[in-house]
Amino acid sequence: MDAYDLVVLGGGSGSQVATAAAGDGLSAAVVEPGPLGGACITRGCVPSKALIHRADIVAELRHASEFGIDAELEDVDYGEFTAAIHDAVYEKADRQAESIEAAENVDRYRGTGRFVDERTIEIDASDGGDSDPGDTDGERIRGDTVVIAVGGRPVVPPIDGLDAVEFLTSEDALFLDSRPDSLVIVGGGYIGAELGYFFGALGTEVTIVGRSDRLVPREDDTVSDVVTDALGRYCDVRTGYEATAVESVDGGVAVTAEPSGEGGNGDDAIDREADDLLLATGRRPNTDTLNLEATGVETDESGHVETDDRLETSVDGIWALGDVLGEQPYKHAADYETRVVTANVLDDAGEAVDYAAMPHAIFTSPQVASVGRTEGELEDAGREFNAATVPVDAAPLGMILHADDGFVKVLAAPDGEILGCHIVGPHASTLIQEVVTAMDRGEGTVDDVAEPVHVHPALSEAVYAAFDELSSRRYSTAPDWRDIDGA
Ligand SMILES: Cc1cc2nc3c(=O)[nH]c(=O)nc-3n(C[C@H](O)[C@H](O)[C@H](O)COP(=O)(O)OP(=O)(O)OC[C@H]3O[C@@H](n4cnc5c(N)ncnc54)[C@H](O)[C@@H]3O)c2cc1C
Repeated sequence: MDAYDLVVLGGGSGSQVATAAAGDGLSAAVVEPGPLGGACITRGCVPSKALIHRADIVAELRHASEFGIDAELEDVDYGEFTAAIHDAVYEKADRQAESIEAAENVDRYRGTGRFVDERTIEIDASDGGDSDPGDTDGERIRGDTVVIAVGGRPVVPPIDGLDAVEFLTSEDALFLDSRPDSLVIVGGGYIGAELGYFFGALGTEVTIVGRSDRLVPREDDTVSDVVTDALGRYCDVRTGYEATAVESVDGGVAVTAEPSGEGGNGDDAIDREADDLLLATGRRPNTDTLNLEATGVETDESGHVETDDRLETSVDGIWALGDVLGEQPYKHAADYETRVVTANVLDDAGEAVDYAAMPHAIFTSPQVASVGRTEGELEDAGREFNAATVPVDAAPLGMILHADDGFVKVLAAPDGEILGCHIVGPHASTLIQEVVTAMDRGEGTVDDVAEPVHVHPALSEAVYAAFDELSSRRYSTAPDWRDIDGA
């Protein structure tokens, strides 16, 4: 049996712990059944954002007349661009595999790893994904240190009739050869909202069925209200409904949804027929593949791994990171946790994770980005705070872009400490960064954002204007174009 200083289960974010260990002269192994790079590269963030960029182009074209430009969309080469995106992301995964395979001191095992005991892992190469399983099937390896980084997969909810119909999840909806004419999406979280926007903008008749009274219900209420309204331009949004039954009908699927009790929808069920059904009802951790019973690694009731704040599990020398933690299911969070685990394993740094300045974004139209607490969370915690909300079109570029439904909302403690920021509008995912940087320094204050000079006329002036409202400075030069009709 081969023995390593470090074994990483999962070739997504965690593989970087292995390469860092190898760089320090330790022996390391990565166990992965599929392409290297994990969900983000081949079936998550990157391909979904490449699709959404196409939706943005189409949406811009449809709104071109608002700017005095007559433009007509002639054709969309759907299968061609999904194939191009597929090839690009798999090329990246292949490069990552080549670089791991070429690295000294790192071995790659193709297959699923499962614990035999706390330090021994058996490889099941029958689940080799699209890679050649090689001759590792049944092989056992040992690691002095083991990192659990096996990510998650889509939840398939219990809906009557689901076992008798074909359905899509985000695993297969990204690379379809042709665009469905109609689609029912079950799930109103960020994946359902992003894919609803994508398909809807391209012309698919989309119905989104979401259990809560608003789409993306974990966001600040003001944010989820805007996203729910905005998605109504591309989709038939049915919030407050739960899909309860599905059946095959000629050439497609019929979905019945009943009021969930959250949307004030009375008792009337709705029925929809569509070419395809897409389930976007959340993700579950892959920890059930690991035979954790052979170890003392503890999980919570949903299967997420329990760790201390240094990300070591209940067993000495077994660490965990990424979506298996369930804390912050985003790629940048997994990368951050990778850095923490690497420092703690290789340098004994004793670093603790701190998610206070962990941002996230939703790539719908308008875009959304958030960091820190929502207004509802602060109220529930009984925390005293001041709030300021400034529309994005207070900045001249916001007015020029007709960013009518965008805003920047700042939540700050009475002493100016930033508690949360929520941005809706063009490039929100980029605009949030200066707030993250301010918060990351510890007790970042509104003045840390309001004082530095902002480029004119950039959208960041909307961020400046919102923070300026809560700033203690007496003199302000924040722009205010909010009541001017879009140029
Ligand atoms: C459609 C979609 C869009 C997304 N968009 C964004 C976005 O815009 N921004 C963002 O930050 N995040 C986004 N995410 C989330 C992001 O993809 C994840 O948070 C991130 O990939 C988590 O990284 P990870 O390393 O924990 O897990 P993964 O990337 O899932 O990697 C885990 C790896 O472990 C492997 N594995 C599973 N079981 C075993 C086993 N028993 N043994 C060995 N290997 C195993 C898997 O094959 C996988 O390759 C999106 C996700 C989806 C599905």
